[in-house]
Amino acid sequence: MVELKLDHVTKRYDDAQETETAVNELSLTAEDELVVLLGPSGCGKTTTLRMIAGLESVTDGRISIDGRDITSLHPSNRSIAMVFQDYGLYTTMSVGENIGYGLKHSTDLPAAERRARVEEVASMFDIEELLDREVTELSGGQKQRVALGRAMIRDPDVFLLDEPLASLDAKLRSEMRTELQQLQAEMDITTVYVTHDQKEAMTMADRIAILNDGVIQQAAPPEEIYDDPANRFVADFLGNPPMNQLPAVVEPAGSETYAFRYQGEHSNIVLATVPQTRADVSGGDTVVVGLRPEALAITPHPTDRNGFDATVAVTEYQGNDNFVHLQIEERELTAVVLPTTQPAPGDRVRVSIEPEEIYLFDSDTGETIRSPKHQDEKPSYDSGRPI
Ligand code: ATP
Repeated sequence: MVELKLDHVTKRYDDAQETETAVNELSLTAEDELVVLLGPSGCGKTTTLRMIAGLESVTDGRISIDGRDITSLHPSNRSIAMVFQDYGLYTTMSVGENIGYGLKHSTDLPAAERRARVEEVASMFDIEELLDREVTELSGGQKQRVALGRAMIRDPDVFLLDEPLASLDAKLRSEMRTELQQLQAEMDITTVYVTHDQKEAMTMADRIAILNDGVIQQAAPPEEIYDDPANRFVADFLGNPPMNQLPAVVEPAGSETYAFRYQGEHSNIVLATVPQTRADVSGGDTVVVGLRPEALAITPHPTDRNGFDATVAVTEYQGNDNFVHLQIEERELTAVVLPTTQPAPGDRVRVSIEPEEIYLFDSDTGETIRSPKHQDEKPSYDSGRPI
């Protein structure tokens, strides 16, 4: 068992003009699991990884492995291996020499033992046939395997991966994703994996830590982040297409229901109605209503069914489903529907959603007021349900 702990870690870059806070009070723990750092470009993912590896100094805070403070330790004394997106292989060496490089320079193992270890690692990555080849003769996927092998051979306590699959084509990427996942699970090695690809994060992570502007927004298992996002940023970042988020005013509709009236130019659109016991809001509040595209249903003709009318702008056929881009007033929203539902541009349709699928966010702070899963886990919101 290896526990990597980041405790209020901050990184500030100072130059003549300004101070840039790349990572701000970041606290995170990873223990025998694969934690993915996910976020948009420039949010501080690589800086965080480089601080863990010791390639970047820490301005404030503490990094430890199993309680041992490594914040200021030289990279070679941290028992950490890192794999970069651009592989970082030595082009003048063979595959075998690349994989064995770390052993040769940091241990006094005899040559025969080093060779045996190189072969063992090469077989783990299915590249034992390539050991005598020049690195320059390899494909992208093979180079990536060599880089992974080179990192693994030293049996590190912590494994760091910075967008390791970014330069591979889609098919290889998906294969390597599965392989890496299996390997990590087999070796049970504490791993921090950086990506901006939500699919990679969702499929591989034990836990995802979402970063924005150097600040962790939420760290939780993929299902939890998707079902119960902490705020609008997380809700928007995970999901393809992203969650529709629309401003609305809360109106009591009868004594037991709230209606969420879209705050648009004409505003005669009620986006959804929710039992009052299931929404921690009051009449007159302004909120942001979140509607997952896959939770929306559309019917071809406006009917008296619950919901609101919208105009079809364009449809994107995906094979296994269909993305329908809809227009309500000046706003666009997206629905994911069965591939057999193919309305034409200009069609008027009725859009509806089950009340239990509705997300609500605070319009000032962006914090989540209500998410379906969260709601189910908090029976106090729903006095009518048995606990
Ligand atoms: P990407 O996905 O594009 O690689 P990232 O999330 O890994 O982005 P970082 O590379 O960690 O982001 O950068 C975080 C912030 O720190 C950015 O605003 C970047 O401009 C800034 N930054 C990174 N390195 C330096 C540096 N050496 N000097 C000054 N600012 C830096």
